[in-house]
Amino acid sequence: MTGHGITTPGRDFHERTATAVADPVLQKALQNLDRRLRTAGESAAAHPEWKERAAAIRRETLLDLDGWLDRLERSLAARGVEVHRASTPGDARRVILDLARARGARTVVKSKSMATEEIDLGGALEQAGLTSVETDLGEYIVQLAGERPSHMITPAIHKTLPQIRDVLAREAHTDLPVDREALTAWARERLRGEFLRADIGITGVNFAAADTGTLVLVTNEGNGRFCTTLPRMHVVVMPVEKVIPRLADVGVLLPLLTTHATGQALSNYVTMISGPRRAGELDGPDEMHVVFLDNRRRTLLGTTYEEMLACIRCGACLNVCPVYRNVSGHAYDAVYSGPMGKVLTPLLSGGAEGADLPYGSTLCHACSDACPVKIPLSDMILALRADTPERSSPVRRRRRLFWTVWARAWSTPRGYRLTTTLGRMSRGRVPGLRAWTSTRELPRPARVSFRDRWAKEHR
Ligand code: SF4
Repeated sequence: MTGHGITTPGRDFHERTATAVADPVLQKALQNLDRRLRTAGESAAAHPEWKERAAAIRRETLLDLDGWLDRLERSLAARGVEVHRASTPGDARRVILDLARARGARTVVKSKSMATEEIDLGGALEQAGLTSVETDLGEYIVQLAGERPSHMITPAIHKTLPQIRDVLAREAHTDLPVDREALTAWARERLRGEFLRADIGITGVNFAAADTGTLVLVTNEGNGRFCTTLPRMHVVVMPVEKVIPRLADVGVLLPLLTTHATGQALSNYVTMISGPRRAGELDGPDEMHVVFLDNRRRTLLGTTYEEMLACIRCGACLNVCPVYRNVSGHAYDAVYSGPMGKVLTPLLSGGAEGADLPYGSTLCHACSDACPVKIPLSDMILALRADTPERSSPVRRRRRLFWTVWARAWSTPRGYRLTTTLGRMSRGRVPGLRAWTSTRELPRPARVSFRDRWAKEHR
């Protein structure tokens, strides 16, 4: 995967998490996650039967992903929308840059979209000489700070209010108060001008209904509506798994998305887009394009990891994850963070990126329990440890050797007896485990083994 933006310092995930935990300002900012954790917990408990239905819809989609995509393409074409298929992030960038060049575009406004982060579209547009402006407030803040989002729903969750004031004041070339409403009002005013100037609006999409060709966009700030209606052209970057069979499925998936993302029964804006402006209509772009982004997703079909494509990007697994909650997104050094990022990053990069991420998990299962579409994230994290062994870290190499020896020893009765006897003799003082036992207690083995007691009592 491509991407840009600063990360938490450190050579690997292990080092970056240590840096993040030792950062008092970051730890203060992360208290903002507390409310989200409560919300995710309540939502998870409140909709058990909806989760079943949502999971069934998503799996029905994956059973015939190509078929649904073909149907969606036909429905979109019937509405006057041009579809482009992109196998790689480079293909997707090329399509969009060609469209921009052909129309002589100079300014682009973007609505929050992880897919555009995944293909590093902002960087590509800037390199091509276009001005690209993020219009979601959190995204705008991280763009001005030269960072990447640290949470898929709340991109600037890692920043405190004074830090946000500093970022916006630098851009405003004037002092601004440390006040939420005043800062939001300043950004709102600034972004209005950008919407009016923009030649192209670029968005992601939450759901794309194959039967009607309707594109559903879920936002809380109204910026999505400006991006999709004011510029002459609207471009949608759609990862292939965003297709859903029927528009009626939105009735199940949408409330689950909003409750698990922010605890809202419904987000402030739900925009259903049915093509460019038609004759007689007042609003809307002159032309619309949808880029189907694959980026190795279809290679996951039929594998252990297929269900990862059911993800609706609600962020609930991040909110409940004890690791994410202490380190936030930049420690992952990837576009996608938290438990879903631990799975998606190595898969989408073919193991080239994030191979150490699956090891940074407690496997507590909180993510799998919170997921509204029942993705077995913990199981996948465990499977990835076997499938993409992380080779760079000496600590992990030692750990891997230890478990290999352990597995061999315990696969024979003689090896089992020998190691358990040694364990009893050590009385819990195992050399080489000092780091592991610094935060955990190693249970003391019994003086006499069960086998010995049994043999003695039945002699
Ligand atoms: S994996 Fe599940 S909980 Fe995590 S973002 Fe995706 S849908 Fe939400």
